[in-house]
Amino acid sequence: MTEVSSVIDETKPYWVVNKTVEQIIQEYTSLYSTCPLCEHIKVPKNNIGLHLRTVHLRFIIELLVDENLIYCLPCKLKCAPHVLRKKSTGILRGHYHCPFCEKILTRSHSFKGHTAGYLIEAIL
Ligand SMILES: [Zn+2]
Ligand SMILES: [Zn+2]
Ligand SMILES: [Zn+2]
Repeated sequence: MTEVSSVIDETKPYWVVNKTVEQIIQEYTSLYSTCPLCEHIKVPKNNIGLHLRTVHLRFIIELLVDENLIYCLPCKLKCAPHVLRKKSTGILRGHYHCPFCEKILTRSHSFKGHTAGYLIEAIL
């Protein structure tokens, strides 16, 4: 059995290992004063929970790897050139970071397709 926690950098805000949604909200509320997954977004003090629920947690992708539940949260930071919808507007695409490699995918179905490879590996 792979220790998923040794593979995944748990200091990153865009994935969480073996935590409930409630735990994520509690933790992020105590850790951050603005949303760690958005740029230039004003979040009312102590109200990151509401923002997380409406903007990020609704679009969470669950990965089950060796009995570890990994939640991947959509990130809205300027992490790569291709997350810019249009260079002129500077509007960013929500995207997902693969916890196992450097890949950043902007569509949830391509992210699921990409991570499916790891899940199959985990089962074998
Ligand atoms: Zn946010
Ligand atoms: Zn990102
Ligand atoms: Zn990957």
